[in-house]
Order: sequence, then structure tokens, then C-alpha cells
Amino acid sequence: MISARAYAAATAKSPLAPFELSRRDPGPRDVLIDISYCGICHSDLHCARDEWGGQPFPCVPGHEIAGVVSAVGSAVTKFKVGDRVGVGCMVDSCGECAACTAGLEQHCERGATWTYGGSNFYRPHDPGTGHTFGGYSTAITVVENFVVRIPDALPLDAAAPMLCAGITTYSPLKRFGAGPGKRVGVVGLGGLGHMAVKIAHAMGAHVTVITTSPNKAGPARELGADAVLVSSDRAAMKAAGSSLDLIVDTVSAVHDMDLYMGLLGLEGALVLVGLPPEKLEVSAFTLTGARRIFTGSNIGGIAETQEMLDFCAAHGVQAEIEKIPAQQINEAYERLLKGDVKYRFVIDSATLRT
Ligand code: NAP
Ligand code: ZN
Repeated sequence: MISARAYAAATAKSPLAPFELSRRDPGPRDVLIDISYCGICHSDLHCARDEWGGQPFPCVPGHEIAGVVSAVGSAVTKFKVGDRVGVGCMVDSCGECAACTAGLEQHCERGATWTYGGSNFYRPHDPGTGHTFGGYSTAITVVENFVVRIPDALPLDAAAPMLCAGITTYSPLKRFGAGPGKRVGVVGLGGLGHMAVKIAHAMGAHVTVITTSPNKAGPARELGADAVLVSSDRAAMKAAGSSLDLIVDTVSAVHDMDLYMGLLGLEGALVLVGLPPEKLEVSAFTLTGARRIFTGSNIGGIAETQEMLDFCAAHGVQAEIEKIPAQQINEAYERLLKGDVKYRFVIDSATLRT
């Protein structure tokens, strides 16, 4: 059994506080990872405050994990001690169903094991709890099939957010053919949004950022946006009507779908990746008027996550981060709610060890 230090929310109403937990000793197919950095995803905040409902507590969030392999099980073939690795939103799945076989482990028919708050166990799990604990911790044991390699060109701190924010935006961009000649919109310039802009730009698409924050217009262009729309400028939004082929919508709160979908041309698609706890509404006429598509996307599979990291390393794409000590997690959550982050908080796990 391996002891690890962590930060946990004891209840949905409590701030995160220091917490001790145990990781299992690596089984034959397991990799033990010394966590160097963990990104703070808006999903962590939704979960730590139980905004979606059903969250088990204590909750140790964190699914943007980057670190170094410190031990491997006897049958591990993909990794060795010292390798730079990452873990994202899942740590296991059944491995046998149609979704798993198709590389869509996140849609495992028996249920993927989420990195934190997960309870579908397919093999021995960490002792002392009925659910998984995430990456706001010093170490984690993960079966090798759910560990990815971080290319040398990517620093571990700036790679961490890509394990969720990177793959969640890469996957729909690829699925809907972002590339030269495609006009892609990105709604919300936060952690996910800034990765969407960088990746879509690297894929060769024409990128428009749609933001509620006028002060993000300049920074959006620096990230690779070709155009910026401020959503409160209704005249500019109207003038841009029907001008986009694809929109990746990363907004974390309820918002006016008709306003954004109106930017899509004939058969354009809006892919929702943001997960507001409230229901979203869209007018029938917005959809039928131009055969528009309203769909969603949930992270990406393991092979696709590796593909994303390799793509980003090859194209010089990495996350823009603000590193914080673990002691500032609660403050970071408040700043995240105010949109006061460029563009991802990353916990320096060394500060958990002191
Ligand atoms: P974030 O850093 O807080 O970014 C969200 C951005 O949305 C904000 O920066 C803001 O951008 C915009 N926004 C916030 N409130 C808004 C409102 N009321 N109306 C319009 N725009 C608003 O969050 P994140 O970490 O990128 O995560 C975004 C969402 O994706 C969360 O709900 C998270 O749970 C979800 N998520 C989903 C997946 C998946 O697999 N589907 C994976 C990870 C995260 P501007 O200032 O530019 O307007
Ligand atoms: Zn996430």
C-alpha cells in the first residue's frame, strides 16, 4: 500500500483541505506514477460542489495528471521507471464491449472508471474507499492501458491540462473535419476554449472566438484566432450569422443556444463540450431552418489522447498555465468562476509534499 497526500472536499459545502489516502501497490499491469502537476478543470469544481448530483465524498478531484513513472508491475510492457506520462479522465473500462474495442473507452457499455468519484471496478482498486481519488495528490496507481506518454517536446506542467482540455477539444475538431477551408467557432475562452483555439489553428482551420469578455479579444488573436466576436455585441453577432461550419461550445453555465447556433451555416454543427448543470434550450426553427446539427462530445479515447499529445508536440501546441501551490486551490476555484485565469490553473504537486 502506498500513502499519498492529497486535497479533498469532505462535503459539497466544504472547501478543499489536506487529506491522506492510500494507493494500491502496482499489480502486474499497473504503473505507479509520481504526480508532478495536475490541472484544475471546471469539472473539478462542478464535482467538488456536487453541481451535477450523485458525487461521492470525500472528493479528491483532478483528471489532468502529468508525472513520472516510479514503479511498474511485472507484466507492464509500455512503460518503465522514469518515463514521463499522463492520465486523464478515466483509469479503466471493461475493455471488451463495442465502445472499448472501437477506442471509445469513455463510452464503455459497462461504464468507464472515472479518475475520481468512479466506482465501476474491473480489477483490484485502491484500498479503503468505494470510489476513486483523482490527481490532486502525490501519487496514483493506474493500469498501463490508461496511461499515455508525454512527448519530450511538451513540458510536464503545460502538458497536464491537455489530458482533459486538450483531448476534449481535439476529438470533436477532428471528428468534424477541422482543417483548411473550415470555419470553426470556439465559444468560451477558458481552459477548454484556449486549447480549442490552438488546436483548430494548428489543424489549419479559420478560427473565430465567441466570448462574453471584451478584454479577451487581443489574447484570443495571440492564441491563434483569426476573428473575435463579443457575444453582447448583438449587431456583430447578427452580421456573422450563418458564417461558420463548426462550433465547439465550451461554456460551463447556461446560455442562449439560439444566439450561438445562428452563427452556423447550412448543415453546420455545434458540438457541446461544456457541461452546465442546467438544461439548455434551442428553438426548433434554429435547427430546421438550416439543417443545423446540435450534438455533444465527451473527452476522447485513450489512443486518440496519445494522438492529440503527439499532434500538439509536433505543432508546438501546449496549454497556457498559471501554476499554483495546492494551498491555493480554493482561491483558484473562485477565480475560475470569475473567468480570472489565463488559461488553466495547474497545481504544483511538490507543494503537497511539504
Ligand atoms: P473555464 O475555464 O471556466 O471556461 C469556461 C468559459 O466559458 C469561461 O472562461 C467563459 O469564457 C465562458 N463562460 C462562462 N460563463 C458563461 C456564460 N454564462 N455565458 C457564456 N459564456 C460563459 O472552464 P473549462 O475548464 O474550460 O470547462 C468548460 C466546461 O466544459 C465545464 O462545464 C466543464 O465541466 C466542461 N468539460 C467537459 C468535458 C467533456 O468531456 N465534455 C471535459 C472537460 C470539461 P469567456 O470569458 O470567453 O466568455
Ligand atoms: Zn476536465
